[in-house]
Amino acid sequence: MRALVVEDETAIATDLRAALHGAGFAVDVTADGEDAWFLGDTEDYDLVILDLGLPGLDGLAVLKRWRGNGRGMPVLVLTARGTWQERVEGIEAGADDYLPKPFRMEELVARVRALVRRAGGHSAALQETGALSLDTNRMQVALRGRPVAVTALEYRLLAYLMQNHGRPVPPPELLEHVYGDDDAREANALEAVIARLRRKLGPGVIGTRRGFGYFLEPA
Ligand code: CA
Repeated sequence: MRALVVEDETAIATDLRAALHGAGFAVDVTADGEDAWFLGDTEDYDLVILDLGLPGLDGLAVLKRWRGNGRGMPVLVLTARGTWQERVEGIEAGADDYLPKPFRMEELVARVRALVRRAGGHSAALQETGALSLDTNRMQVALRGRPVAVTALEYRLLAYLMQNHGRPVPPPELLEHVYGDDDAREANALEAVIARLRRKLGPGVIGTRRGFGYFLEPA
């Protein structure tokens, strides 16, 4: 799972990056509205945290442009002013949730998890497909109820497959959602992660549909 943080206050952006990374996301950060618009329009994010007060193009204009171009990723808006007019404007522009500043990072993470779950059609924190279950609050993986130790990268990969269960996910799409902008993205690195996960999880959990992609095997 991959997130974009759009925030021009460096300290908040740094805290957001750490919190989202801790919540299982690869995280890209930008402080600039134009840059944010471009990234959100060209990259596939599973979540965006968008500050409204930005230099250059403001957050509301960025959001309107994304939605106008049919970009439907979940967006949580941060607002410093917190007036009801601004909240209404944000929601009308296509925000899925908003949080007034100052906020508690715990609340932001809880809202983010709920947003991402809803976007994937899940309402509960525990997600299951076949023998595999993911506790998205604790970021724990279990196979037939027994915990399996995974790295942050492996967790992001499983979470994205779980979010998109029922269809094979092509490797380029999986790469895009598992690695951040700064990470080296190579198809053979993805194959290595899949191979490692298959060793950990055993057969019958991660399937391959030749020419289409990877999927979680149903029960
Ligand atoms: Ca700001």
